[in-house]
Amino acid sequence: MDKYFVLGNPVSHSLSPRIHGLFAEQTGELLRYERLLVRPDGLDVVLRDLQVKGAAGCNITVPFKEQAYQLCAQRTPRAKWAQAGNTIQFAGDQMIIDNTDGLGLVRDIVQNAGVALADKRILLLGAGGAAAGALGALLDAKPAALVLANRTSERAVRLVASHRAYAKQITPGCRLEAATLLDLPQLGAFDVIINATSSSLDGEALHLPPTLLAPSALVYDMMYGKAAQGFLQAAQAMGAQTRDGLGMLVEQAAEAFFFWRGLRPKTAPVLQTLLAELPQ
Ligand code: NDP
Repeated sequence: MDKYFVLGNPVSHSLSPRIHGLFAEQTGELLRYERLLVRPDGLDVVLRDLQVKGAAGCNITVPFKEQAYQLCAQRTPRAKWAQAGNTIQFAGDQMIIDNTDGLGLVRDIVQNAGVALADKRILLLGAGGAAAGALGALLDAKPAALVLANRTSERAVRLVASHRAYAKQITPGCRLEAATLLDLPQLGAFDVIINATSSSLDGEALHLPPTLLAPSALVYDMMYGKAAQGFLQAAQAMGAQTRDGLGMLVEQAAEAFFFWRGLRPKTAPVLQTLLAELPQ
């Protein structure tokens, strides 16, 4: 039976085994999927070990997405743009890395929430691995403007600069800009605001000035469940529609499943199951 793993630290909270278990059940694929806690300096050894032991693939979660990218000689174009990856396929002595986070985010917004991104003004908050994974996929959706705002200015500037050539090629009309969180009151209004920061883990929900919200704006948090509540409730109070990142998690997993197995599972029933199982 093919074996898959999710590698992270911490990893005990990961819903990936449950999600891939539901995908396997739904598609009739025979596979096993387990969590693997990796020491901060242990990714290289663990990946080699899995390869030698004949694992079929793995997902990579916090804090190893950039490191995993560096360790894989073969990279899909979207992993290259992000310089980070969340999905590895073992193929003989090769490791091929992909990044399915951005596509997962866009599918959840466009297909599941029914919110178009084409010709819209998008604000992406954060410049870490999650934002890096999202930027290329958001540009693929051809927005009118994409502003990336981060607490630390240099990271936002660097991430935007690394995507300029892609933006020019894929969506030349899109205004792509870097900003800091201090600039938020001066940036104008956005149709879609995506929180890709981990600020709520610090117990500090980001504060959105009301001027940021266009009428019927969507405010999205990549976090899900209780961790996303503070940020999303404040946005709801300002009249925004809101959505947490559980759908993104399921969609990025479905794309990983497709990368490994060549089959695309249905995501809606899996999202429904998780919503029923998660504590509210
Ligand atoms: P990183 O550690 O790589 O980046 C963290 C980001 O958050 C940086 O931009 C950092 O800013 C910012 N940040 C941290 N604390 C604060 C704060 N107090 N105020 C303002 N900004 C802050 O994390 P990731 O990018 O990998 O992940 C970000 C979030 O996205 C996580 O919560 C993760 O769970 C979620 N995620 C969800 C996924 C899903 O499928 N739903 C998939 C991937 C990620 P600075 O640069 O200034 O330090």
